[in-house]
Amino acid sequence: MTREEKIAAIAQFYGYEPQSRQCIEEMAELTQAINKLWRKRNALYTTAEDVRKERENVIEELADVQIMIWQMIQLLDAENEVDDSITAKLDRQIARIEHE
Ligand SMILES: [Mg+2]
Repeated sequence: MTREEKIAAIAQFYGYEPQSRQCIEEMAELTQAINKLWRKRNALYTTAEDVRKERENVIEELADVQIMIWQMIQLLDAENEVDDSITAKLDRQIARIEHE
């Protein structure tokens, strides 16, 4: 089974409503993880081990969110539209940077 096939199988099994709710939950967990890593990196008393742990947590949560986003795209049948939107947004941002 390819990664795409696994994403499609999971998305189809659960369906749009549960997976969109799960997506919201995972985004909240990622928000919290990013904030905790930021706090650890800026804390007066922190250890390299603490920072390493929080960084690992961010990586875990990035993976969770990425998996949910792939499923959302699949369930909305929006592969091409999201891809086009990404291309347009990246081009716009690069143009902005070049004009700065
Ligand atoms: Mg999570």
